[in-house]
Amino acid sequence: MTVELICVGTELLLGNIVNTNAAFISEKCAMLGLSMYYQSVVGDNAGRLEHLLRTAKERSDVIILSGGLGPTQDDLTKETAAEVMGRKLVEDERAKKEIKDCLAKLGRTITENNWKQSLVPEGSTVLYNSNGTAPGIIMEDGDTRMILLPGPPNELVPMFEEQVYPYLRDLQPEMICSRMVKLCGIGESAAETKILDLLSAQKNPTVAPYAKTGEVHLRITAKAENEKKALAMIEPVEEELRQRFGNHVYTDDPEVTLEMAAAELLKERKLTVTTAESCTGGLLAGRLVNVPGISDYFKEGYITYSNEAKEKLLGVSHETLEAYGAVSSQTAAEMAEGGAKAAGADLCVSVTGIAGPEGGTKEKPVGLVYVGCYCKGKVFTEKRLYSGSRSKIREYSVANALTFLRKIILEETKG
Ligand code: ATP
Repeated sequence: MTVELICVGTELLLGNIVNTNAAFISEKCAMLGLSMYYQSVVGDNAGRLEHLLRTAKERSDVIILSGGLGPTQDDLTKETAAEVMGRKLVEDERAKKEIKDCLAKLGRTITENNWKQSLVPEGSTVLYNSNGTAPGIIMEDGDTRMILLPGPPNELVPMFEEQVYPYLRDLQPEMICSRMVKLCGIGESAAETKILDLLSAQKNPTVAPYAKTGEVHLRITAKAENEKKALAMIEPVEEELRQRFGNHVYTDDPEVTLEMAAAELLKERKLTVTTAESCTGGLLAGRLVNVPGISDYFKEGYITYSNEAKEKLLGVSHETLEAYGAVSSQTAAEMAEGGAKAAGADLCVSVTGIAGPEGGTKEKPVGLVYVGCYCKGKVFTEKRLYSGSRSKIREYSVANALTFLRKIILEETKG
């Protein structure tokens, strides 16, 4: 079953609005295992829309349209689609009543063009709209199906979820199921290299890597006649990925974030942590505080942007700063140790680096970042070099600091 999406609206072509409907519909179709081969955006122009619809009809089984169902002259999706499907427009009594009730509830006066929205192609299934006045429409002609949806996302999303998703699911003899294995501490190319054999041999299930900031997510997807069978096909692949990636795997739960995984380890091993940040200026503490209940393990953190603050709050020695500079493994180590002592925490993660765009030198370029971690009397440091904007470098530094914290806990403390 192939599906094609056409989003109608000149605003979309001009870049005035972002095509969130396309992202939403595509994701849902992928979940259903429908193959989407084409997506287009067309302005409010009957001729071009008609041409596109005739082409789509030749090459796709299901054509989904979003937008252009409104009451005004430039809303012409329904008229054009009906024409292409060879249908007359007829009045739908229930749609008419709902439009009347909806506008009365909003206290809006009904104008003559409002009744345009109660016209539907003859013989179609009407998708009543509980969030607006434009009903959606499904037209079937042999193996071709055309689904018309209103443009506003607050109308389209519930209509799709409640009425279109079940309709499409019933058309599909198979269903699709996915699982996400999330990795940290490994780059996308290194991750891909480890599973090249799986990637090239795959048919069903498939494995797809997605690069995220400081993380790689591997999506395993299986197609089967029911969920149980699909999950049974996913399981051995997930096990294989766990074997290959070991501690790099931090979760297989789509809701769990890297900071949640780090916090879970703190909880499991009854450890407290603090942060000593320079270039990330509180972002690391902010990510930890995203986790509900973190107050049991994280009491305080330090933002020590200047050398003076590093000396005053963390006890970094003046000599270290003079000899090696603020961005050095020596300073990262002293920041971590000093932070742990100042806060009385079991662990302290420190970050110091050059986020740019200014301030880089040949020896210490923009993107150079050191992360430190103090744990039970020992201090560990790691050097990294990132490229990109100031905000990207800071985001990568935070993800790396969380990864480093997780690694040190796993390696240096007992479970
Ligand atoms: P209305 O009854 O509001 O006229 P409609 O079906 O005619 O609905 P459009 O006029 O095409 O829809 O779009 C109405 C609004 O919906 C747009 O101004 C925009 O805010 C939003 N919208 C339309 N298409 C999209 C899209 N593809 N992605 C995100 N938002 C969209």
